[in-house]
Amino acid sequence: MRALARLWHAAGETVGLVPTMGALHAGHMSLVAAARAENSKVVVSVFVNPLQFGPHEDFERYPRPVDADLALLGEAGVDAVYMPDQATLYPAASSTRVRVGVVTEALEGEHRPGHFEGVATVVIKLFSATEADRAYFGQKDAQQVAVVKRLASDLDTGVEIRACPTVRDAEGLAVSSRNAYLSADERAAALSLSRSLRAAVADYAAGERDPGRLRARMHEILAAEPRATVDYAELVDPSTFRPPGTLAVLAVRIGKTRLIDNHDVAKPFPG
Ligand code: AMP
Repeated sequence: MRALARLWHAAGETVGLVPTMGALHAGHMSLVAAARAENSKVVVSVFVNPLQFGPHEDFERYPRPVDADLALLGEAGVDAVYMPDQATLYPAASSTRVRVGVVTEALEGEHRPGHFEGVATVVIKLFSATEADRAYFGQKDAQQVAVVKRLASDLDTGVEIRACPTVRDAEGLAVSSRNAYLSADERAAALSLSRSLRAAVADYAAGERDPGRLRARMHEILAAEPRATVDYAELVDPSTFRPPGTLAVLAVRIGKTRLIDNHDVAKPFPG
């Protein structure tokens, strides 16, 4: 991968990287389109990163439809797919881990200990292998965007981080590889996430500015869905992930599937 990236750079090309865990969907492909618009070469990495999964999470059963992914990326005309195996990225002797600090502490960091250390470690390795000029991440994982921006800046990577808008289905559900786990009933219940964000947006637009009341509104909507168990629903600042702020973030379990979503309540909700 690095040899190819060096050839490209020597020829004056720019490299846009889209890191993914595969099971590609319209969200991923929107990142590919954004990378295509700004770079002469586009690399998509596909790697289900064991370091970012907790011991009781879904690493083993995470979907890995490799042939379908390669077909989609072929159709999209990406210049390279970087699909390393586990032994290549983490040989037995490897032991270095990257810890980003304060922005990783709350919310996802609190509910998924070690998750962001796994993300930061693999992201640095992907930047290194691809010698990316720019890297594209989805706003769907808003805290990850904040972590990666901090990481890219703190470690002087020189990689420009781009955050791309969340792609949703017609009903408002944020597209996610994990949506494949949902039964029809659970999929209906999963709409409670976007419903709760939409309600907070509507209240804000109607003049509500009290973060406690906006938060209570989100919880009220989620509580009305019997299949939903809330990990958190909060309003935070998008760069620190601490209150106060207008970024509504939530993590909700629907059956065994944990879903996350977010939206800035000061901005209109799409659809
Ligand atoms: P993943 O394969 O789930 O690790 O996601 C790879 C990248 O795609 C991450 O930067 C995600 O934030 C982004 N992504 C996932 N779902 C969406 C979505 N619905 N809209 C936009 N980006 C997304």
